[in-house]
Amino acid sequence: MSASILEVKNLKKYFPAMTNLFGKGTEFVRAVDGIDFYINQGEVLGLVGESGCGKSTTGRTVLRLLEPTEGRIIFDGRDITHLKKKMLRSIYKHMQLVFQDPFASLNPRKKVGKAIEEVLVVHGMKDGAQRRERVRELFDIVGLRGEEDKYPHEFSGGQRQRVVIARALAVNPRLVICDEPVSALDVSIQAQIVNLLVSLKNRLGLSYLFISHDLRVVKYMSDRVAVMYLGKIVETAPAGELFKNPAHPYSMALLSVVSALNPGKNKKKVILEGEVPSPVSPPSGCRFRTRCKYAARICSEAEPQIKCLGGGHLVSCHLY
Ligand code: SF4
Repeated sequence: MSASILEVKNLKKYFPAMTNLFGKGTEFVRAVDGIDFYINQGEVLGLVGESGCGKSTTGRTVLRLLEPTEGRIIFDGRDITHLKKKMLRSIYKHMQLVFQDPFASLNPRKKVGKAIEEVLVVHGMKDGAQRRERVRELFDIVGLRGEEDKYPHEFSGGQRQRVVIARALAVNPRLVICDEPVSALDVSIQAQIVNLLVSLKNRLGLSYLFISHDLRVVKYMSDRVAVMYLGKIVETAPAGELFKNPAHPYSMALLSVVSALNPGKNKKKVILEGEVPSPVSPPSGCRFRTRCKYAARICSEAEPQIKCLGGGHLVSCHLY
């Protein structure tokens, strides 16, 4: 097995939901509540779950765009959890983010090539000719050869996401956090961007944390998949194994949507009853118990520990 490029240990991110007179938090939204995962070099880890489950907060906290409440983030063997902002710049050379909305993440008044040149300046590339050559190369890599002198509005949605990917690749990152990178695009364009991300991964040896609610895209992209529910990772497994044999009742329900869409497969979509509980006061024991048809007394009394079912398949449920 290859060495990990990223290790996350007991990561928590709480946001104050209520504050006292002195501005101190008294109640907290537990957006991410003690998760562990790793990503190997050259690997794609998919992170799935309903909206509000904490997957985007996880991505931003790993990148230190949000300060972690607790836990450790280890990038390429180095603990970056408490690294000062100034020092983080050297880490951002190796770790980049691709956002959901390419238009919002580009300056409408700046030619896209110039915007990427600015990134190169920040990361220490002083020579103008060298920068322009690098920009040309990047636009070539993402299939936009010769388009660097345009403004963002002159591109289609898919082309803009290619620009954003070119900007993320500018500093030769090793890990890219892709946060819903295709969900703002037309369905016809999504496959092109997904294929571009796959070919860039193979060509440049990248690793991805691929955050998405689109399970079919995650299945196609990922080597392993982690399933999140209400701030916790409830199951992790190699992608093929998870989609074939989901073990956690929440994963079974979530993934039944994909099986039900597959022609020739006679599987029914499992409808989840009830609302997602509040992340301010999540249920005791197993957080999924208020919606789980297998819930027993122990499920409210004790939080299930992670168990290994073999072959890298981990699940957190009292049924195992
Ligand atoms: Fe359901 Fe209990 Fe397993 Fe939670 S621990 S998923 S409530 S069976």
